[in-house]
Amino acid sequence: MTQIIDGKIISTQIKDELKSKASELKAQNIEVTLAVIQVGNDPASTVYVGNKKKACEYIGINSLSYELEESTTEEELIALINELNNNEKVNGILVQLPVPKHINEDAIIKAISPLKDVDGFHPQSVGALSIGQKGYVSCTPAGIIQLLKRSNIEIEGKECVIIGRSNIVGKPMSLLMLRENATVTIAHSKTKNLKEITKRADILIVAIGKPKMITREYVKEGAVVIDVGIHRLESGLCGDVDYDDVAPICSAITPVPGGVGPMTIAMLMNNCIESALQ
Ligand code: NAD
Repeated sequence: MTQIIDGKIISTQIKDELKSKASELKAQNIEVTLAVIQVGNDPASTVYVGNKKKACEYIGINSLSYELEESTTEEELIALINELNNNEKVNGILVQLPVPKHINEDAIIKAISPLKDVDGFHPQSVGALSIGQKGYVSCTPAGIIQLLKRSNIEIEGKECVIIGRSNIVGKPMSLLMLRENATVTIAHSKTKNLKEITKRADILIVAIGKPKMITREYVKEGAVVIDVGIHRLESGLCGDVDYDDVAPICSAITPVPGGVGPMTIAMLMNNCIESALQ
């Protein structure tokens, strides 16, 4: 029987653990505060920011909200980030991406102090991850490690294939799986013979951004399949994996929705709690 990896249940467990940590911290007079900055009013970003604030409220983390005009300049945004970097009451800073086109995203990511970089996107956080040092880890890949561990799926010594090499999912995912002692292959848009490569995987992690691209021809019988993709089709939400086709042949799989999705915010909350312990 295929094990359905339930991200809703696992993320709720994590949030409940964090809630008790936050109240332990409160008892020691340590408040955790996350500053959330949104530039412009992209509707998807507004939903994401709203969900992050709700999660903060659930756990007992203070959230400070900065809703800036679309016309905000890069200099103005960096000035606000600097102010928050220097504010001792603020533990974590998050700028909701994407920012409007006239603002350089890399400059914004770099402006956030690595000590407050709860998204784990700062080059120093990425560098620390790549050499196995302490630092914030990007939330979606960190959530996938939790999904695997809390579902008792062994990682050490396993063949892991990751499809996708983005800075927020594919690359940090590969470093985390390496840290867990998997044998890691990264495939991407220029990979030749993709099916041959993905069929080697004991654990296949899919972050391509193409609805239902991965069918059973790409999957070894008995593999664990983690689907990072999220797509809103007329028929509803789906992932990068053709779930109905693949689920019957694998040993475990994440559904969409309710798999990887809920883990991202849970791990952001985890990073916020960590930020108060620096
Ligand atoms: P991206 O577009 O930055 O990267 C996609 C990657 O897929 C690229 O590295 C590219 O080389 C590779 N790729 C594209 N076409 C390919 C092909 N035909 N064969 C092999 N590789 C191919 O995307 P991303 O930001 O990494 O996101 C991937 C998906 O995950 C998207 O659907 C996104 O919405 C979703 N996502 C979900 C969460 C979450 O919380 N669940 C978080 C981030 C991203």
